[in-house]
Amino acid sequence: MKVTENKIYNPAAECMDRESIKKRQDALLKQTVEHVYNNVPLYRKRMDEAGVKPEDIRGTEDLHRLPFTNKTDLRDEFPYGLLAVPQEEIVRIQGSSGTTGKPIVSGYTQNDVDVWTEMVARSLVAAGAGKEDKIQVTYGYGLFTGGLGAHQGASAVGSMVIPMSSGNTQRQLMMMHDLGATMLCCTPSYAIFLGESLQEMGYNTKDFKLKSGCFGAEPWTEEMRDKLESLFDINAYNIYGLTEICGPGVAFECCAKDGMHINEDHVIAEIVDPKTGEPLPYGESGELVFTTITKTGMPMIRYRTHDICTLDATPCSCGRTLARMSRITGRTDDMLIIRGVNMFPSQIEEVLLKIPGVAPHYMLIVDRVNSTDRLEVQVELTEDMFSDTVSEIEKIQNAIREQIKSVVGVSANVKLVPPKSIPRSEGKAKRIIDNRGLTK
Ligand code: AMP
Ligand code: ZN
Repeated sequence: MKVTENKIYNPAAECMDRESIKKRQDALLKQTVEHVYNNVPLYRKRMDEAGVKPEDIRGTEDLHRLPFTNKTDLRDEFPYGLLAVPQEEIVRIQGSSGTTGKPIVSGYTQNDVDVWTEMVARSLVAAGAGKEDKIQVTYGYGLFTGGLGAHQGASAVGSMVIPMSSGNTQRQLMMMHDLGATMLCCTPSYAIFLGESLQEMGYNTKDFKLKSGCFGAEPWTEEMRDKLESLFDINAYNIYGLTEICGPGVAFECCAKDGMHINEDHVIAEIVDPKTGEPLPYGESGELVFTTITKTGMPMIRYRTHDICTLDATPCSCGRTLARMSRITGRTDDMLIIRGVNMFPSQIEEVLLKIPGVAPHYMLIVDRVNSTDRLEVQVELTEDMFSDTVSEIEKIQNAIREQIKSVVGVSANVKLVPPKSIPRSEGKAKRIIDNRGLTK
């Protein structure tokens, strides 16, 4: 494994003592709560209903008094309902990966873009980035935060950015080789695919200058880290984020590779019991909840990520004092990330309900073949259709495939199965068989 120089980019922020972190969070939390109470009708309504006034929030110890915010709130208030500033203050819109049906969008002021950029820059520096680096960005560019987020962060570090966006494996490898890219930013599953293709295409790892990579946007494992590090002879670092908070860079790994430091000078992290919503102490596994404290355009108060992990505020060997989150070990909802795209089984259901001849009984089977996610959708035919000709059945199959691609944004293999062949459940229907082994 190559040695990367793990610099601390902004010691004043990243190595602040815990007491100063709390003081800063207290002051900024109060400001944020006042800002949203005065400018966002939904927050005011929710706080009024809960009987909480901005002046009741004295610091992080009062956080639990504030109502939660959910993905459904972003959908219901789409596109501008949660903005806390006039639209002319917004300089950027980004959206969650996945669905073309019901988007989740976030509006950024210039301040918000700058804060986000700083968070990604920190993450890249922790992974060894400096001015001399050539950073290949293979996350998709567009509404998805991965591409532009990594791009801005790398530019802020002063590195050379190679804005490849996603796809076209041969070209990715050719550019990585010919331009001498030293760092790679993409999803861990695509990185493995690139690494395997590198060998198949007859390249030798020694001919590459790659020294490290920042991989995120989907769950991955320590086994995948080992594989990535040996495939490319690099250090592989985890990076976490979500559109609702800003995008990648909310948390990042350092040289210790023992949890991701959360940028606590910009966000407050909590772990809550997913069932009761009660805050849990550090070390206990539960749902991660974020409150932004420096965002102005669309601040988020106690946003429920549905991601499950643990938090740890003990000192890290790298010198940073920012608390660390563990790998994401699961979700509290049934969201799946397929080839970096977020999707919910309910979206498949919506598609099926619009197609005559099929029953709304389905099963999603997810596998990873040659490091690439494969989604099979098994759908039950109705009794009427079951006796139909092969060409009729093929027509339905194609219609479902096309609709899934257009609504969910993911290519799926559609398999039509006889009526009543999908097991019925007495309780919550089991709709997903995920064979990738990414969560515990
Ligand atoms: P998006 O807003 O489309 O970028 O999706 C955000 C979601 O992607 C998060 O809530 C997580 O479920 C997932 N995600 C992002 N980064 C990671 C990571 N490093 N490990 C596991 N899941 C991640
Ligand atoms: Zn550290």
